[in-house]
Amino acid sequence: MKPQIPFDNSYARLPDRFFARTQPTPVAEPQLIHLNRALALNLGLDPDWLASPAGTEILAGNRIAEGSEPIATAYAGHQFGNFVPQLGDGRALLLGEVLDRDGQRRDIQLKGSGPTPFSRRGDGRAALGPVLREYLVSEAMAALGIPTTRALAAVATGERVVRETLLPGAVLTRIAASHIRVGTFQFFAARDDIAGLRALADYVLERHYPEARAAEKPYHALLAEVAARQAELVARWLLVGFIHGVMNTDNMSVAGETIDYGPCAFMDAYHPRTVFSSIDQHARYAYGAQPQIALWNLSRLAEALLPLLDPDEPRAVTEAEEALSSFGPRFEAAFHGGLNRKLGLATMQEGDPVLAGDLLKLMAENQADFTLTFRNLSRACEAAEADEAVRSLFVDPTAYDRWAVRWRQRQAEEPGDAASKAAAMRAVNPAFIPRNHRVEEMIEAAVERADFAPFEDLLAVLARPYDDQPMYARYAEAPRGGGIGYRTFCGT
Ligand code: AMP
Ligand code: MG
Repeated sequence: MKPQIPFDNSYARLPDRFFARTQPTPVAEPQLIHLNRALALNLGLDPDWLASPAGTEILAGNRIAEGSEPIATAYAGHQFGNFVPQLGDGRALLLGEVLDRDGQRRDIQLKGSGPTPFSRRGDGRAALGPVLREYLVSEAMAALGIPTTRALAAVATGERVVRETLLPGAVLTRIAASHIRVGTFQFFAARDDIAGLRALADYVLERHYPEARAAEKPYHALLAEVAARQAELVARWLLVGFIHGVMNTDNMSVAGETIDYGPCAFMDAYHPRTVFSSIDQHARYAYGAQPQIALWNLSRLAEALLPLLDPDEPRAVTEAEEALSSFGPRFEAAFHGGLNRKLGLATMQEGDPVLAGDLLKLMAENQADFTLTFRNLSRACEAAEADEAVRSLFVDPTAYDRWAVRWRQRQAEEPGDAASKAAAMRAVNPAFIPRNHRVEEMIEAAVERADFAPFEDLLAVLARPYDDQPMYARYAEAPRGGGIGYRTFCGT
C-alpha cells in the first residue's frame, strides 16, 4: 500500500550535526479543531484521511506516519540583538517534506509536539491561544497574497500546559517552503564549521535559489537573492500594516516567507512607531523599524557567509556589502510601488512618494485607521460623496480634505476610468485584516468556552480579504480608541 503522506526527507539526509532525531511525545486526547482542506489537496494529501482518527493521530504526534523521519533542527540566532549560539527546535519537529501539486518541496512540521534536545527549560508544548492565532494570521497573510508559512491543521491535545495559568494545549501543523533561518547559518558560523556552512548554503541554493546556483559566484548570488526576497516581503508587510513583533534572526526564513507568528499583530490606527509586543520594550521591532531590522538581520547572514564569499576576509566583506547594497533600493521600489497602487496610481511619477508620504504623516497625526483609510479611499476614488467615509477617520477631517485635492489632481493624470481605478484599488486595499480585538475574542471563546465558531467565522471572512462581505461588516470595523494600548505576548 502506498504511504498516506509521500514523505521525502532531504533535510534529514544532511550531516547529523544539522539536527537531532527526536520522536514527538504523544498527547492524551487528540481532537481535530480544524483541517485546511484546500491546502491538504494542494499538498497532494487526502483531506478525508487527515481528518480521520488515524490522520488526527499523526497531526497530534501520537503516531509517526510511514516514511517520516522526525527531526528537531539546529539553529542559533540574535534575539533582540544578543547572540545565542544554540536555539533550535525546542517545541517543533520536522516530520519531513512533500512535493506539492506545483512540484514545490514543502516542509511539514508539528509545533507543540513535546520536548526535544533543544528545549532548554521549555516544555516543548504550545497553548491553544497562540496556535489559533498563528493559524488564523498566517492564513490571513496567505489570502492577502503575502509569502508565508501555512497552517494545515490545529489539534487540541486534551492536556493542559503550564504558563502563568493552566491553559489548554494544542499542536499546529505548519507548512513551509523550508524552516531554514538566518540563524541556521549562524549556528555553523559560530562553530567555525565551514564544511557545515557550505553544505547548508549548497542545500539552500538547490532548494530555493536554483538560478543563483548557476551564477558565477553562487554564494554571493545567494546572499543577494535572500536580501531581495526579504526587501519585497517587508514592503508587503508595511503595505498591509503588519507588525511581525519578534524579528530575531532565528525568526527570519531564508526562503523569504513570513515565519513564526508569536506576538505579531496588525496595526489599527496608523503610527510608524507602533509596537504591540510586551517584551519589545525598546521598540526594536516597531512597524516602521522593520526594513532596517531586516537589513540588520541580513548583515548577520552576510557575516556568517563570509568564509564562503572569499578566502580573503577584506575581499569577502566587500563582496557581502556589494550583495546587500541592493536591499535599500529594492525595498524602496517595492514599498513606493505598492503605495502608488494603494492610491490607485498605476504609473509612478516623481512627486508620488511625497504625496503618499504626506498622507501617511497626516494619518499618524490624526490617528486614522490604516486599513479603513485605504479601503475607503477606494470608494472615494469613484464617488466624491464617499469622501466622508475617509475624512471621518481623521481627528481633524480637514487635513484629509486638503490632501484629497492633491490626490485627485494626480489621479486625473492617470489613464483609465474611475470604476476601473476603484476596482484596482480594492484589489490591493483589503477590507478585512485579522483585527486584534476580533482575534482576542476568538481566542477567548476557544480557550474559555471551547467555542470555535468565532475561529471558523474569522477564518472564512479572512479568506477573502479584498471582497466586500456585507454580512461580515462587523469584522471590518476598527476598535474603539484605534486599538492603542493593545499588547501581545510571545507564543510560549
Ligand atoms: P520563539 O520565540 O517561538 O521564536 O522561540 C525561540 C526559541 O525558544 C526557539 O528555540 C524555540 O524552540 C524555543 N521555545 C519556545 N517555546 C518553547 C517551549 N514551550 N518549549 C521549548 N522550547 C521553546
Ligand atoms: Mg522562533
